[in-house]
Amino acid sequence: MVSFGRRACTNTYAPKLNAIGSSTHPRQTRFQRRRKMAGFRPNGSLPAVTLAVALVLCANGPTWVASASPATKHVEEAQKDLTEWISKLWRELHQYPELAYQEEKTSRLVRTTLDSLGISYTYPLATTGLVATIGRPGGRHVAVRADMDGLAITEATDLPHKSKVEGKMHGCGHDAHTAMVLGAAKLLKAKEAELQGQVSFVFQPAEEAGAGAYRMLEDGLFKNDHVDAIFGLHVDPYMFTGQASVYAGTVLASAGTFKVTLTATGGHGAWPHLTADTVVAGASIVLMLQTLISRRLSAQEAGVVSVTMFQGGSALNVLPSEVVLGGTWRSLSVEGNKNLKEWIRQMILQQATVMGVNATIDFFDDKHPTYPPTVNDPRVANFARGVIEKVLGPENTKEGYPQMGAEDFAFYTERIPACFFLLGVRHEDTVTPGPLHTPRFSLDEAALPIGAAIHANLVLDFLNEGSGEDGKETGAVKEEL
Ligand SMILES: [Zn+2]
Ligand SMILES: [Zn+2]
Repeated sequence: MVSFGRRACTNTYAPKLNAIGSSTHPRQTRFQRRRKMAGFRPNGSLPAVTLAVALVLCANGPTWVASASPATKHVEEAQKDLTEWISKLWRELHQYPELAYQEEKTSRLVRTTLDSLGISYTYPLATTGLVATIGRPGGRHVAVRADMDGLAITEATDLPHKSKVEGKMHGCGHDAHTAMVLGAAKLLKAKEAELQGQVSFVFQPAEEAGAGAYRMLEDGLFKNDHVDAIFGLHVDPYMFTGQASVYAGTVLASAGTFKVTLTATGGHGAWPHLTADTVVAGASIVLMLQTLISRRLSAQEAGVVSVTMFQGGSALNVLPSEVVLGGTWRSLSVEGNKNLKEWIRQMILQQATVMGVNATIDFFDDKHPTYPPTVNDPRVANFARGVIEKVLGPENTKEGYPQMGAEDFAFYTERIPACFFLLGVRHEDTVTPGPLHTPRFSLDEAALPIGAAIHANLVLDFLNEGSGEDGKETGAVKEEL
């Protein structure tokens, strides 16, 4: 997924950090120190991870709250067990990142982990992907999704478990997503007898520009199964561990990519009148594409056109015969996406004609469709918000907002009522978070069991609501969904 923008900071504690400052501890604000001294307890009683795990283990009532009770001990042991288990797993995943559709080792680790938990699965889907299902038919069917691919980046952190593969890194946190969903599978398998329906754990390849989700569905994922809801999360380095944000509605943009090849005869830099100039034509295209957002798109709509690549020429006195440029466009609606794509095509061809060069455009339609917008079903999103508030506390459950990043989770949201939310992974000591898709991206391991437990709580509550066990409100949700 594309890195979250700066605005994410305004939705977290970051403004407070900036505002409060500190004269005695330049690297720590008063606010951070207060969090540390108190031990960060989003619900005011137990750390988020303990609460989250406790909710899964003691879904029928908070009997564990009384301190030093046997139930509390049970929860603490389970939390310790999950925390160690999931960290070990994540470190293994993190050290051996693999690129889209090459997630062989990762997929093997997922499968052997599921084997060790006694969970069966269907493999392969979309080359390296798989889906595992537990529970019993008859009730609701809910799914949670993890993506497995890394990025072509060389990791530049100093972590002991940094990537061991030169040129590859889990710079988008998909290793964390995989570990969290496996953690949820472990928690839920232990309660399988009590599940009021079925849960599927989806492990897909190639989220990064490979449309792995689309390929999973094309390969038959859920082809013969009705799925009532699907949940997915993305780690957010701008939010602290123990926080999350949810938005009901279109939360991420649709996205497409284009590549243009401009050709002409080329010639000597001294006699430009003897050839069409691919460099000037390319420069004109770059500038004119910007007018699509400022002049063509309604001011009421959100859109982005970014030229991110421009290659041409190798000598200072030669007009090159070829220039290649390309980039991406974003929109929050299907219609907007379609319009921008057509306007980009028209603008490039018309500018090329004016400049007398040839232009061929590749929209990569033969590989996969453009990513649709990620649309959270309001009812599923509000349900998810309620569960996350229960786990992290209302004060740590932020209101999300639409962003121009894109996710192939969108392909699931086209077919299944869905909620995609963000989970904080910023360690409280982190002054400047390493953004996603950068060599210095890192995350707080304490967020791993929290993510696992949120997934597990979403599943448990969703299945329980479907069974009508939670009474009146539950029935309404069931009818609507
Ligand atoms: Zn990414
Ligand atoms: Zn991502």
